[in-house]
Amino acid sequence: MTFTLAIVGRPNVGKSTLFNRLVGKRLALVDDQPGVTRDLREGVARLGDLRFTVIDTAGLEEATDDSLPGRMRKLTERAVDMADVCLMLMDARVGVTPVDEAVAEILRRRGGRVILAANKAEGRAADGGLIEAYSLGLGEPIRLSAEHGEGLNDLLSQLMPLS
Ligand code: GDP
Ligand code: MG
Repeated sequence: MTFTLAIVGRPNVGKSTLFNRLVGKRLALVDDQPGVTRDLREGVARLGDLRFTVIDTAGLEEATDDSLPGRMRKLTERAVDMADVCLMLMDARVGVTPVDEAVAEILRRRGGRVILAANKAEGRAADGGLIEAYSLGLGEPIRLSAEHGEGLNDLLSQLMPLS
């Protein structure tokens, strides 16, 4: 496998939708640590001519509001440590939230390569959120729609140099 990509972001931004689109049925497996199997899903992604390992930070959905920040930090940091590059998703229809800012802060502090994508960006409803995404300080966002498969070529272009 060429490199490992971790998909990170707060709950409900579309991480698993993108993971499933990249991996299809080639879901591989994971880790033996208790809890990890559910919390970090790993699969073999195919995008254009690229094959790479992709990690979905699942396991945030069950967190309560109180437990979310700590859980998200732990899972995000663990995913970052396993990855060569992180893909942060935010929801372009909602715009930047404080939780998105917390995720971006973790990524900036850890250093390393980060790609930012504004997901759910199909249609005009996403225009405002796409602009807001620049404020996360992670560079120019890719306009992505995991559900509709839009923006995958831009993602491919950014991943190509890593392969
Ligand atoms: P996760 O919690 O980050 O893993 O998010 P999910 O992949 O579970 O998606 C959360 C919700 O957003 C689901 O209802 C998805 O169908 C929806 N969703 C995901 N990607 C898109 C997208 O590109 N556009 C729209 N409109 N909805 C999306
Ligand atoms: Mg998920």
